[in-house]
Amino acid sequence: MEKIKMTTPLVEMDGDEMTRILWKMIKENLLNPYIDLKTEYYDLGLEHRNETDDQVTIDSANATKKYKVAVKCATITPNAARMEEYDLKEMWKSPNGTIRAILDGTVFRAPIVVKGIEPCVKNWKKPITIARHAYGDVYKGTEMKIPKAGKVELVYTAEDGTQEKELVHVFDSPGIVQGMHNISKSIESFARSCFNYALDTKQDLWFATKDTISKKYDHTFKDIFQEIYDAEYDEKFKQAGIEYFYTLIDDAVARVMKSEGGYIWACKNYDGDVMSDMVSSAFGSLAMMTSVLVSPEGYYEYEAAHGTVQRHYYKHLKGEETSTNSVATIFAWSGALRKRGELDGNKELMEFADRLEKATIDTIESGSMTKDLALITTIENPTVLNSKEFIKAIAKRL
Ligand code: NAP
Ligand code: MG
Repeated sequence: MEKIKMTTPLVEMDGDEMTRILWKMIKENLLNPYIDLKTEYYDLGLEHRNETDDQVTIDSANATKKYKVAVKCATITPNAARMEEYDLKEMWKSPNGTIRAILDGTVFRAPIVVKGIEPCVKNWKKPITIARHAYGDVYKGTEMKIPKAGKVELVYTAEDGTQEKELVHVFDSPGIVQGMHNISKSIESFARSCFNYALDTKQDLWFATKDTISKKYDHTFKDIFQEIYDAEYDEKFKQAGIEYFYTLIDDAVARVMKSEGGYIWACKNYDGDVMSDMVSSAFGSLAMMTSVLVSPEGYYEYEAAHGTVQRHYYKHLKGEETSTNSVATIFAWSGALRKRGELDGNKELMEFADRLEKATIDTIESGSMTKDLALITTIENPTVLNSKEFIKAIAKRL
């Protein structure tokens, strides 16, 4: 069989621990035999980030701007324990945070739905994609403990020195106070990423805040979304046969529970943090969640939603068998290859991505899976495979 040719490279961001092991196996068994794989390789493994003073992370994000599509392996975000383990020069920042800041993107997380791994919510038939705004609100909040009676005000000082004040509260006893902010430009990018991704995936877009209570703060989110929608997207959505609608967050939560899925739910930063954990655990497994960073300019970075699966890696190092689920990492590759194919008009590459996903899903649905899925499946007597056997089983089907 002749291998599928690529015209433009993908940006390949390698990573750490168990997912780095899976990464290599996926390339060897599922990609290289079929595709003349063209990638620009960046090693984001912690050792190499440390050697390059994290410059490699910045370079990989800039390469994504050049080539538009990247695929990323999970990476370690250093903490005190990792400083010692890897003898780091510095506690390097989270690569995902660095890349997100450079691409100004929004993260979309969606579960991979297979028969036999049933969501806790019975009526959910299709994936629910959560889009989380990744800037501001309580994550950049300033807080104060109020020790005793006194007055708290919000003060805005313009560049010319003029001031505007708003009373927060007159305390007659101890309490607490919090100030938070967001930036219109960031909300606009978030809105555009959501509208573009809805068009891309042909799914309805829901957006919800608490604008009835937060009449300026949350209401501004609602207004910005609506203004951009009306000016730039209304016509495109109608042509694509999809819908944008805004509703109150309480109403959205109630509707989500009763829905059958198949849409994108855009959330403010905190709502997205909380709701993505709810949606992923209700769909069954973190190992079955994909994640894609989409910038308003149309740059895409695909990855798995889970981490480097450290516990399995240490077993692997001791020579013990692991049964680590590679599905989300395989789907990061298929997502990136499909997008590459779409941008380059490379139909063969797009079809390969479809076939790879189908082979993966069919393998699980036929009863062969990794241990994490075997523990929750409704399929009787599943065959539990180790990390390598599972990838080989997919390869056989492919
Ligand atoms: P994790 O790697 O997501 O794993 C947590 C646990 O979830 C695992 O121990 C395992 O449970 C289960 N799990 C996750 N993915 C799995 C898979 N593919 N197959 C089977 N089981 C899976 O989270 P962590 O252990 O908290 O973090 C490890 C490292 O990953 C950290 O250094 C963190 O900084 C990094 N991280 C990176 C990213 C990213 O790059 N996007 C995201 C999150 C975390 P059992 O042990 O019970 O089998
Ligand atoms: Mg969370």
